[in-house]
Amino acid sequence: MRLRLSRNGLRAGLTASAALLMPLVAAAPGQAAPAGTAQAGTAASAAAAPGACPAAGTVTQGYSGSHDGVDIANAKGTPIYAVAAGEVINSGPAQGYGQWIRIRHGDGTVTEYGHMYHRDVTVGQRVAAGQRIALMGSEGDSTGVHLHLRVRTSTSTAVRGIDPVPYLRDRGVGLPCTPGSGGGGGGTSVTAWATANVRSCASTSCGVVSSVHANESYPANCWVKGQLVNAEGYSNDKWVQLPLRAGGVGYVSAIFLKGDETGGVSRPC
Ligand SMILES: [Zn+2]
Repeated sequence: MRLRLSRNGLRAGLTASAALLMPLVAAAPGQAAPAGTAQAGTAASAAAAPGACPAAGTVTQGYSGSHDGVDIANAKGTPIYAVAAGEVINSGPAQGYGQWIRIRHGDGTVTEYGHMYHRDVTVGQRVAAGQRIALMGSEGDSTGVHLHLRVRTSTSTAVRGIDPVPYLRDRGVGLPCTPGSGGGGGGTSVTAWATANVRSCASTSCGVVSSVHANESYPANCWVKGQLVNAEGYSNDKWVQLPLRAGGVGYVSAIFLKGDETGGVSRPC
C-alpha cells in the first residue's frame, strides 16, 4: 500500500500521531532523550549498527605490526563509502595520506580513509552507512591506487588503530566486499514531506532527539517495526533509523517520508 498523502490531508487526519507534528523548537538536534524513555533506542544501540562495504577491490595489505589499517586496491575513481553512519570530522589534505576523511561514529569509533583523489564530503556533514564519500586515488605516500582504511577507538590519532577486519565483521561486512550488499548495504536517503520529530526509539513515547523538515533529504540507515501511527485512514508501523549529527541514531515514523511504507529504505535494522 502506498502511503502518499497530501500534506493537508495528513494534517487534518492526524490522530495518534498529532504529537509528532508539534513544534520542534523544544528539542535541539542530538539532545539526549530523557532517562527512562528510550527502551527501544537503548536496545537498538546495544549492538553495532549495520555497516557497509568501504570499497570494491582487492585486499592488498592487511593489518599488521607495521601496517595500521587495511588496503583495498582498485582502479582510480572507484567509489569509497562510509562503513558506518556518522559525522565527518576531517576532510582535506593530510600528511602521508595525501588527502583523508575521518568519520566519527555513534559508538565513539572513528574510521579514516586515505589516498583518495576526490572527496565528496565536508567537515560537519552527517553520512549514512554506505554513503559515497570519495573516489579512490593514489595521493600521498602510495605506490598504487588504493584505499587505506584505518579504524580508531577514539578521535585521538596518538593511539594506534585497531584491526578493521573484525570491526567490519561486527557490522556484518567481510572483506573483500561488494558495495550495496551484505552488512548495511548501500546508503539510502529519505525525503520528508512533513515536519516531524525524530525520537530516540520507534515510538511516540520516546524522547525527541532531532527533527526532519518538509522536502529535505536525510541519510538513513535502515527501518524498524515500531509504534503504529495512524493518519487519514492509513496506518504505518515502520520507522526509519537516521544517523544523528551529534552521533547515535534516531527514529522517524515512515508515514512522514516520501516513497513506500518504509520511506524508500529497503534494509531492515
Ligand atoms: Zn595502507
